[in-house]
Amino acid sequence: MIEYQQEVPLLAIIVPCYNERDMFPVCLTQLRAVLAGLRETNKIADKSYLLFVDDGSRDETWAMIAQAYKDYPDVRGLKLASNRGHQRALWAGLDNVECDICVSIDADLQDDVHVIGQMVDAYLAGNDIVYGVRDNWTSDTLFKRKTAQYFYKLMTRLGVKQIENHADFRLLSARAVKALMSYDEENIYLRGLVPLIGYCSTNIYYTRKCRSAGESKYPLKKMLALALEGLTSLSIMPLRVIALTGFTISLFSCLAAVYAVIEKLIGNTVEGWSSMMIAIFFLGGIQMLSIGVIGEYIGKIYMEVKHRPKYIIEKYLQ
Ligand code: UDP
Ligand code: MG
Repeated sequence: MIEYQQEVPLLAIIVPCYNERDMFPVCLTQLRAVLAGLRETNKIADKSYLLFVDDGSRDETWAMIAQAYKDYPDVRGLKLASNRGHQRALWAGLDNVECDICVSIDADLQDDVHVIGQMVDAYLAGNDIVYGVRDNWTSDTLFKRKTAQYFYKLMTRLGVKQIENHADFRLLSARAVKALMSYDEENIYLRGLVPLIGYCSTNIYYTRKCRSAGESKYPLKKMLALALEGLTSLSIMPLRVIALTGFTISLFSCLAAVYAVIEKLIGNTVEGWSSMMIAIFFLGGIQMLSIGVIGEYIGKIYMEVKHRPKYIIEKYLQ
């Protein structure tokens, strides 16, 4: 009988880093241990490696990555010329890996590194995409938890396919990465793009921990920017809502106009200054809001047509 043996895949773990001086040593040790464990059990190829993407850090992060590159054969480093944000840093990493499978994980290791082994198993079982899904929110503030949950719900309602409670901890096969890279858009929200690929996928659940060193690089401003990016780059529903609101209000205005004419004909013409002012303010507000939302989309189109590079590499240690 012929025995079919699956080739051992070469794994690359991509870690975007922005000012992660405090976290880097821990992250390096733990992820190298994960690689060693998986090599030992013969689940991944010997040449599997870590790829740290320095997203234009202003602290010693890049110096630490360069040192690790010198010290260990399974470490590579990619330095972006400026800070482009988590999503683009991750994209740069995905665009430059050479591997059979890759796992993306944040440098603060809030995501459980032991899940990586399970992700590889899921890949070997035939999945091209394996989502890490958190089963708890205890590591976050009540505010972050609630806003994230409402945001996921809103996105689903607006027709964006997204895995709930999944951030950017996931495994992608080489062909899934290739497919993802063919989405040639400037405004990227990976969580929304990956499910569009459509290859066979599965979820693995884990418990998310607190950040053990350094502070969050996602303050409220960046969180809102990511949410807005996700919403407007994947859904045109807000434009439709505006059109519908405009339509409804116009309909009511017509009815109100008929009512006003009838009142006038009867002779009940008591001019209502306040109601007129309310109407002006209300319609003015709706119009401003509508123009704002439309402007947001036009801004997106403007960014897209420029076709600017998503990132610029300063150095690649490979
Ligand atoms: N990050 C990045 N560029 C940025 C901001 C963050 O590459 O402009 C990286 C950061 O180093 C970390 C990951 O993105 O590896 C997630 O950031 P963080 O843990 O601060 O986010 P949070 O878990 O608080 O949402
Ligand atoms: Mg974090």
